[in-house]
Amino acid sequence: MALVPGEIVRLFRQHFGGAAPQIYRAPGRVNLIGEHTDYNLGFVFPIALEMACYAAIAPAAHDKLQVFSREANAGFAININEVAEAKPMHNWSDYVVGVARELARDAVPLKGADIYIASEVPAGSGLSSSAAIEVAIAMALLDGRELQPLEIAKLCQRAEGQFVGMPCGIMDQYAAVFGQKNAAIQIDCRSLTHNYVELPPNLRIIAVNSMVKHELGTSAYRERVAECRAAVEAIQQRYPEVQSLRDVTPEMFVEVEAQIPEIPRKRARHVITDSQRVLALGKAAEAGDLAEMGQLFVDSHRSMQHDYEITCAEIDFLVERALRIPAVYGARMTGGGFGGCTVNLLAPEVEERFRRELAADYKQKFNLDPIFYDCVPSPGASRM
Ligand code: ADP
Ligand code: MG
Repeated sequence: MALVPGEIVRLFRQHFGGAAPQIYRAPGRVNLIGEHTDYNLGFVFPIALEMACYAAIAPAAHDKLQVFSREANAGFAININEVAEAKPMHNWSDYVVGVARELARDAVPLKGADIYIASEVPAGSGLSSSAAIEVAIAMALLDGRELQPLEIAKLCQRAEGQFVGMPCGIMDQYAAVFGQKNAAIQIDCRSLTHNYVELPPNLRIIAVNSMVKHELGTSAYRERVAECRAAVEAIQQRYPEVQSLRDVTPEMFVEVEAQIPEIPRKRARHVITDSQRVLALGKAAEAGDLAEMGQLFVDSHRSMQHDYEITCAEIDFLVERALRIPAVYGARMTGGGFGGCTVNLLAPEVEERFRRELAADYKQKFNLDPIFYDCVPSPGASRM
């Protein structure tokens, strides 16, 4: 259930007293296809979710940012004059201070304020609670001052890359900014442009939270970034003009793959094919071809499982189990990997069975209760 603005105002006042805050909303996202393609400047295909992070902000008489997070059940304060030179604390405050620092460096003067954060996006589940908090905070700190939407997405990505220390691509922040009701966003991460693709009617998109997040996540992410770089360097021997895997067509890849060492070769194969699947999914969606959309999901999952090697037993189980249900068109892991969520395409009439059977069998196998999220394409960040 979406948090209503009245409830956020109440939480803000309960914590900070007095003033009437302004509220900003930034959504989480589920990526339909194109995984780990963004930092290779390829294509991605997320939808923004109804679940969102809300930041309530009111100007204050002091010259600090006083911030409280409902989910962290904790707060911190930083003097606005210290933000530009702030150092990471290696906790959730980095997402807030990182964004404030980027704004300060972009010559947006910060003003003393009280900020209350409340989010419905589950943290660490691959639905991008991190971009939701970043974009909500950027909007709140701007508090009505103009900044191009693309600049907001880029500065939030810089905050995550340079302050939090996660070398992520642009997808999450882009989706949080540019989400649209009723449409998926096909993003070109090289040109930083997008088009909206309406999804066929009579289709449910359900994310299933495996409730596991294996520690490997962060270190493996960096490894994959480096392995993709190694693939680019091997390909440059033959094609010196190649700057990123985006510049490698499927035909070029077939021609050079024997010259790429095995691990980078597998990583590159995933990135290049998954980026192509983004374009194919867009076409299939426009044609209303549910079977083809489902097949692309399955192909993408296999590619993550065998070539990118970022799935895990729990996630693979959820995918295989879902695919055994008729009218589940497709299932795949979504997000960075090693746990988090799967995303499933299914006919509305099997939804009840899907939820019941997956919950029962997952419980029996892993003794965990998965959480199901109905994914309805929703608008991007806004003032409420
Ligand atoms: P994901 O983006 O998939 O949810 P990340 O690891 O990228 O996973 O980001 C999760 C982190 O973002 C959390 O561990 C926390 O530090 C921060 N975060 C997200 N939402 C909130 C919130 N409401 N309050 C405080 N920190 C948050
Ligand atoms: Mg994240």
